[in-house]
Amino acid sequence: MLKVRNTLTGELEEFQPLEEGLVRFYACGPTVYDYCHIGNFRTFVSVDILRRYLKYKGYALRQVMNFTDVDDKTIARAEQEGISLRELTDRYIAAFREDMKALNLEPPEVMPRATEHIPDMVELVKRLEARGHTYRSGGSIYYRIATFPSYGKLSKINLEGNIPGARIDADSYGKEDVRDFVLWKAPKDEREPRWETEIGVGRPGWHLECSTMSMKYLGETFDIHCGGVDLIFPHHENEIAQSEGATGKPFVRYWLHTEHLIVEGEKMSKSKGNFYTLRDLVQMGFDPLAVRYALLSVPYRKPFNFTFDGLRAAERTLQSLRDFRWAVRQARCEPGSNPAVAEAIEKARRDFEAGMDDDLNTAQALAAIHRLVRDVNIVLNQGALRADDRHRILDLLSRFDTVLGVLGEEEEEMLDSEIEVLIKEREAARAARDFARADQIRDLLARRGIVLEDTKQGTRWKRKTSPN
Ligand code: AMP
Ligand code: ZN
Repeated sequence: MLKVRNTLTGELEEFQPLEEGLVRFYACGPTVYDYCHIGNFRTFVSVDILRRYLKYKGYALRQVMNFTDVDDKTIARAEQEGISLRELTDRYIAAFREDMKALNLEPPEVMPRATEHIPDMVELVKRLEARGHTYRSGGSIYYRIATFPSYGKLSKINLEGNIPGARIDADSYGKEDVRDFVLWKAPKDEREPRWETEIGVGRPGWHLECSTMSMKYLGETFDIHCGGVDLIFPHHENEIAQSEGATGKPFVRYWLHTEHLIVEGEKMSKSKGNFYTLRDLVQMGFDPLAVRYALLSVPYRKPFNFTFDGLRAAERTLQSLRDFRWAVRQARCEPGSNPAVAEAIEKARRDFEAGMDDDLNTAQALAAIHRLVRDVNIVLNQGALRADDRHRILDLLSRFDTVLGVLGEEEEEMLDSEIEVLIKEREAARAARDFARADQIRDLLARRGIVLEDTKQGTRWKRKTSPN
């Protein structure tokens, strides 16, 4: 049974979807004015792990992730670059989809854009108006917090005090109460993008879009809502006020929030300038799946401390898992099975699931896999792996990888001609005293099971036969 920590109650709760066998969930998506940094991707990877684990448990899914394609940042950036809002946001939506692919993030079932849901947002504002939750000021429409007594139930904020670091609407001008937030913004100047609607000329507030699109695709009450911890207040608090204010029904049953990725004690963010995009890391030579491995190796409710040493360690660990899969695949095995291996496999499966069931404890799930690797390596070295064991291990690894998504396609056996090209390159590197490159090629070949032997006549190679 999967248990998740619900921000709303603070408790670890058994997860049960509203409708048997189907999970409806929403994750706040990116604001598409630039490339996402790996802090953003920490959150998106954790959402993907949740998604994949729900599938592993046999649930069907309906997941929505929005694109925020109109807000102060997107408008300012488009203006700065002298292009239309649509051109700018198309570009960064395409980039986000490429990054998703590189990080092996499964696409949610629905990925709606805010600007394509303006009429739905207008409808929601009208419902809120009809129920007395709004007021108008200077052409904009605001939500009056005083009309929603349970405001604050998610973030447990003390409304009298200040909330350090919280993302508060910049334009408080025109509000009756600083806590009130804007639903519909009148244009500040004639250049701002705008929509002419029944509720006036303007554009939607950020919070409105998530309430609207989540309820449109998932219903007025749905199972899970995710995002980074910085969204708890005010964004998600305001979503609750809007949705529950309009429908009178509970909005979301389980709220899951991912802790921040931090760099030297500070949140990675564009405004602080301390950020790396996925593209930066790929350009530095990192495998995007190693980035994914690193990001998921820490349970989502614990802060993730980003360092290059940590990333390099993740890359090595991931490579060792791939090498293990390769060694198991290549092992020559007698028929039958080895009871010690059967036991190790069963234990790994149990521990992996126990970890994931415990609020998606990915660290525990990975530990279960590494234990399996250690146990099986002993058997491999004794030449005691049997054919049935091999199949079971490979099946289990690929089943785990439906959740983790890090192993990638199995590499094909290298062709003789490919090996010889690399050996020539290594000889040239040695002649040029580029020993780092020469060693890199030796290691690369070793990982693919090719052993080199340097003789007076030149380099000879052979395929490593497995221990058995
Ligand atoms: P944004 O594009 O700013 O709306 O953010 C997209 C997602 O990334 C949101 O769920 C944020 O909470 C999340 N996020 C932003 N910065 C970080 C960070 N340093 N660590 C983890 N998640 C973050
Ligand atoms: Zn949102």
